[in-house]
Amino acid sequence: NASSVSLADAAYVKISEGDFGYVLDDVPHLIDHLPDAPTYPNPLQDHPAYSTVKQYFVNEDDTVPQKVVVQKISRRGIHFRRAGPRQRVYFESDEVKACIVTCGGLCPGLNTVIRELVCGLSHMYNVSKIYGIQNGYKGFYSSNYLTLTPKSVDDIHKRGGTVLGTSRGGHDTKKIVDNIQDRGINQVYIIGGDGTQKGAYEIFKEIRKRGLKVSVAGVPKTIDNDIAIIDKSFGFDTAVEEAQRAIDSAHVEACSAENGIGLVKLMGRYSGFIAMYATLASRDVDCCLIPESPFYMDGEGGLLQYIEKRLKENKHMVIVVAEGAGQDLIAKSLSTSEQQDASGNKLLLDIGLWLTHKIKDHFKSKKMEMTIKYIDPTYMIRAIPSNASDNVYCTLLAHSAIHGAMAGYSFTVGNVNGRHAYIPFYRVTSTRNKVNIHDRMWARLLSSTNQPSFLSQKDIDEAKETNRMANKPPLPTGLSHHAAN
Ligand code: ATP
Ligand code: MG
Repeated sequence: NASSVSLADAAYVKISEGDFGYVLDDVPHLIDHLPDAPTYPNPLQDHPAYSTVKQYFVNEDDTVPQKVVVQKISRRGIHFRRAGPRQRVYFESDEVKACIVTCGGLCPGLNTVIRELVCGLSHMYNVSKIYGIQNGYKGFYSSNYLTLTPKSVDDIHKRGGTVLGTSRGGHDTKKIVDNIQDRGINQVYIIGGDGTQKGAYEIFKEIRKRGLKVSVAGVPKTIDNDIAIIDKSFGFDTAVEEAQRAIDSAHVEACSAENGIGLVKLMGRYSGFIAMYATLASRDVDCCLIPESPFYMDGEGGLLQYIEKRLKENKHMVIVVAEGAGQDLIAKSLSTSEQQDASGNKLLLDIGLWLTHKIKDHFKSKKMEMTIKYIDPTYMIRAIPSNASDNVYCTLLAHSAIHGAMAGYSFTVGNVNGRHAYIPFYRVTSTRNKVNIHDRMWARLLSSTNQPSFLSQKDIDEAKETNRMANKPPLPTGLSHHAAN
């Protein structure tokens, strides 16, 4: 029922069925808040640190727009609830029973998020019943729950990994919710990637179906930065910084040999953000290969020709390759069938090794002297503790998650255009954030490495046509097409 939406800016909207214009995303369905209104005053109102802060509390109607660049008449579009403490909360502090779980692969910052969830719940809202679920989703029904206190998590942010343990697979929604219900848990904090957030949405739906008064708060984790909607995922900065160290080593190796090539494989199953940013940051990279930008080896404009040219000019070169790049090339040359892990993710073939062999064979056939050193730092990067900026980000994400759960919302938390927001689960899981190779950032990368774009004339013509359409003036009906970036 769209007419029940109360929004400060509702005056700007024409709200009619199927045309929600400038409204909070999903408010029409009222799915993200527990059925009753929050009744308890927020204990932070009396807290010495916050009571003097002007505008500390977030207005229920505050929203964060998904797109910053909007065209003239367009205040339409998707807006999310702004994250932050509310004047009223849904749960009384002593009735809160919270649990925290980490799932999926490792990522710098997991322990910082756990620590700040525990300390934030305890210090801001005087919550004392906080439990850790061990080894991912299956721990809800197969392991003991750990009791977490500010003291027990005091220095875990200095360690890599997750103190709770993690796993893939083992998501049994019914058994998980049975355990939440039996143990009287009413706040569930779920830290994990796209698969984990899909699982969180299933848990959320089952909880709603059973009419339980439980908030589900997702904190998205992905070292690849491939989660849709949010500006950046935690651990990404740390990963880029550590990746640079591997690139430095590759550069040293390459410079120290005649026609030396340093090849570094970085994370990025479907999205090449780490490879792209590490390349832009390091300036020593001559070629960056990512899943979004198909490339080819042989012939005019191919990778091998470029390597030859670069070695002739410079006597050394550095190549960065994201793990998901060139998968079609390897599959074709090895004619292997696809394999999956316990969570149903596609197992990737090692592009780094494959490239190493291909490059070696090529120069051998040309009787050209060459040395290649292949560095795979991926597991080392995943396992380090988060850096300063990620620690700050993790802390703020944890606080936003706590404020939202205390107010009775269920959501995934994230930074959207620089502001923390509560995002419906399905929004972040239905698409994946990818590097747009027709966008400015990739163009900047190409101009910094000087590598070929590997695009055919047909690709270029198609992209030009898309740009031409996107740059047209707004349609008179007010239906806008947003120009990229
Ligand atoms: P990453 O890929 O960044 O390491 P992830 O969260 O995507 O993290 P997965 O191993 O894919 O890692 O999933 C983590 C957990 O989420 C697993 O326990 C898995 O069973 C569960 N999961 C994955 N996809 C779904 C889904 N579609 N529905 C319910 N649960 C899911
Ligand atoms: Mg995943």
